[in-house]
Amino acid sequence: MELRQASSLDLDGGTPLHGGTELVPLIRSGIVRPDTLVDIRGVVPRGIDGSTIGAGTTLAELECDPQIPDALREACRLAASPQLRNVGSVGGNLLQSTRCWYWRLKWPCRLHGGDECFALEGEHREHAIFENGFCASAHPSDVAAALVALGATLHTNRRELPVAELYRVPTDDDRRVTTLEPGELLLSIEVPPADRSIYLKAMERKRWAFPLVGVAAARTGGETRVALAGVAPIPWLLEGSLEDATPLPRNAYKVDIATALVKRAVTALATV
Ligand SMILES: Cc1cc2nc3c(=O)[nH]c(=O)nc-3n(C[C@H](O)[C@H](O)[C@H](O)COP(=O)(O)OP(=O)(O)OC[C@H]3O[C@@H](n4cnc5c(N)ncnc54)[C@H](O)[C@@H]3O)c2cc1C
Ligand code: SF4
Repeated sequence: MELRQASSLDLDGGTPLHGGTELVPLIRSGIVRPDTLVDIRGVVPRGIDGSTIGAGTTLAELECDPQIPDALREACRLAASPQLRNVGSVGGNLLQSTRCWYWRLKWPCRLHGGDECFALEGEHREHAIFENGFCASAHPSDVAAALVALGATLHTNRRELPVAELYRVPTDDDRRVTTLEPGELLLSIEVPPADRSIYLKAMERKRWAFPLVGVAAARTGGETRVALAGVAPIPWLLEGSLEDATPLPRNAYKVDIATALVKRAVTALATV
């Protein structure tokens, strides 16, 4: 495998590498097998300028910057470990893969192109409670949920799109979970101001765990947007009711957690 430094936004077919906290383990386990890795740290913007965040900004930089809305700062602070947050970029976070243990252990499941979702009949305690009929994976990004609730916009080297539109629910004829095209790079994120926002996270232990359920809520004017992590194959913008959830036999507890956290978040925003 070749490793080179990017000198422009054209990676010439190479696979982008930023902090490597997600990509390197996937290469080690043989899930991703790139011919060429391209270190993009020199060409992807890093830093915070008012409402604009470079995609190369680390989670550690976001969690302590007062310009960043509370929901996003808290989502970053509660993610991963301090060491990982010092290295991991927000762009890489948005593009992380599922934590589904069948997928990570390379079972030939639907997301790997196979015919079966092993989680549906197997171990699915941490899996999705929405859109879980084809692939029951639960999206692991706290940060993505916060950005969706905040109504953030992504700028790539090809287009501008709402963060929510970076994601797609996989289907039989298209197993991709993002809409990112080959050669497309995330460059920056525009986060509109919110009057107030909050991120609440339920996890197996108090630190260094992916969300069982994460709830981001943002209030702007009279409108409150709520988005959830850990409940669907994509960051989940809550447009209907949590009663519409379709939990699997061993994860209905997530509906109870989500209901409690959404209530707590919306109440917190309403009281200030
Ligand atoms: C043990 C562990 C625990 C974690 N816990 C949490 C958690 O609780 N909550 C949470 O939200 N996240 C969590 N994470 C995810 C972590 O935040 C991400 O691994 C990290 O932010 C990825 O950033 P990176 O720069 O290292 O990405 P990389 O590993 O370099 O890249 C990740 C992917 O994104 C692509 N990529 C990177 N940058 C760009 C770009 N600018 N444009 C296009 N493609 C790009 C790469 O090609 C690769 O596919 C955890 C990770 C680990 C390993
Ligand atoms: S939940 Fe998705 S990733 Fe996990 S086994 Fe099923 S198809 Fe594969």
